[in-house]
Order: sequence, then C-alpha cells, then structure tokens
Amino acid sequence: MKKIFFWIPLFSILICWPSAAQQKLSVITTIEPFAYFIEEITKEKAVVSVMIPSGANPHTYEPLPSQLTGLSSADLYVKVGSGIEFETTWMDKLISLNKKMKICNASNGIPLIPMEEHGEKEANDHKHKHTEKFDPHIWTSLKNAIIIIENILKSLIAIDPSHKDIYTQNAQNLTLKITACIKEIEKQTSHLENKTLLVFHPAWGYFAKDFGLKQKSVEKYGKESTPQKLARLIKDAKRNNIKIIFASPQFSQKSARIIAQEINGTVHLIDPLSKNYIESLKTMINILTKNIP
Ligand SMILES: [Zn+2]
Repeated sequence: MKKIFFWIPLFSILICWPSAAQQKLSVITTIEPFAYFIEEITKEKAVVSVMIPSGANPHTYEPLPSQLTGLSSADLYVKVGSGIEFETTWMDKLISLNKKMKICNASNGIPLIPMEEHGEKEANDHKHKHTEKFDPHIWTSLKNAIIIIENILKSLIAIDPSHKDIYTQNAQNLTLKITACIKEIEKQTSHLENKTLLVFHPAWGYFAKDFGLKQKSVEKYGKESTPQKLARLIKDAKRNNIKIIFASPQFSQKSARIIAQEINGTVHLIDPLSKNYIESLKTMINILTKNIP
C-alpha cells in the first residue's frame, strides 16, 4: 500500500513536468529592455534570456560559452538589428549554432538616425567603435518601442499561433502603458526652455528626438573627448545654464564628474539598458525637468 502512495505522486510529476516545460517558449534577446518587452507580451508562456547582462557594455561584450550552449534549445532570437556591435560581431555565429531558431529583427520599420546628427561632425578625426554610421540605440525612443513591440508580437504569433490572442492583448496593454508615458513626458518637456540633454555616452539620441530635445555627449563613438573638446563642452554648458549631466553605469564617470564640477552641476546615473524600461525614462525626465528652468 505504501508503495502505491509513493509511486502515484512521482508518476504524475514525471508525466506533468516535461509537458509543462515544453509549453514554454525559449526566447533569447540581446539587451534587457527587450527582455522586458518580451516578458510583458508572453508573461508565463516563455522563458526569456538576455545575452548582454545588466551593467555590461553592448559595444564590447562577448558571450560566455554557457550562453552559446544555451542557444541550442532556443525557439526565437529577438535581435536589436540596428548595428549594435555585439550583433554585428556575433549574430552570424549565434545563428549558426541553432538553425531551427527563428530570428526577429526588432528594428524593422524604424528609421535609423545618422550618428553625426547627435553631435559635432567628427568624421575625419576619429575612428569610432560604432561600426555602422547609424546610431544603434533605437530602444531609448518610446515611439520606437511601440514598433519594436509590434515586431516582437508578429514573430511570437508566427512561432506560437495558439496563443495569438493572449500575446496580442498583452502587447496592447504594454503599448498603452508606453503611450501614456509618451504623453506624460510630452507634457513635462513642452514648456522646457532649455532643450539640451547633456550626457556622457550618446545613447539618448532617439529619446531626445521624440521630445524635441537635443543630445550633447561627452563621449563619441566610444572615444572620450579631448581636453579641448571638454573645455568647449563646459563653456557651452555654462552659457546654456546646464546643471545636469547624465552618465551610464556601463562607462567611466570621471569626465562627467569633471564637467559637473566646472558647471557647478550634478551627475546623475541613468542606465540606457535598464530592464525597468518605462520607470527609468520617467526618472530621467523628472531629474531633467526639475533641474532645468
Ligand atoms: Zn551605446
């Protein structure tokens, strides 16, 4: 009798466990904000992994051997597709490891902005790390996020049509949240006299464009400013009464601090790769609007 009671639960675990695991999709993506989008759309229907871990630099990161082996069981890879170095260097290799894995190009339909638009034209005096001449940081734009979500939704439906309605509803909810955030930030920024967004790493060009702001960056294309350019930036910032400089945790904050000291302002850390996507953009704009007259 005892034996039967032992075997029944064990037997049911053995039956249920593999089927429950099989139901979950395995989705891999390059950066954390995309993991947030995918998780919001799939909820408990997928297991999502990120190639570039929190705090790592997507312009230089190399995948771990364990991440490469993890790809063999993936159903879908959602790539940024905007020319971010991790993908231009590794994507072919990642695809070759799992020929059955579907690829979603999340930047489909998003117009890329040339790097030069974000700063001074420096084409002749630097050899930049962004291998493409377009700005790859498409996800910092909330308006782009809506297109990214549509692209991810299409790919999810293609590989898992049985959950089409759930995915569509979840994607709609997420888009509504983002639309509300856009309206909120539009309201906050519309009256701003000073439209300059002074940043260390130029990750915010698309975000700035959404709200008529102008990104000015200390670092360009992975290269820190020369002392002369730093001096010019400080002069500019003083003239425009800028008191805030945003730095990213992925990069050194030394020159941001030097500038802050010179302009009698403060450095604020904002992660352009935060998984807490909407909240981090709201925080950034709150800091900006509360400190700029
Ligand atoms: Zn970047």
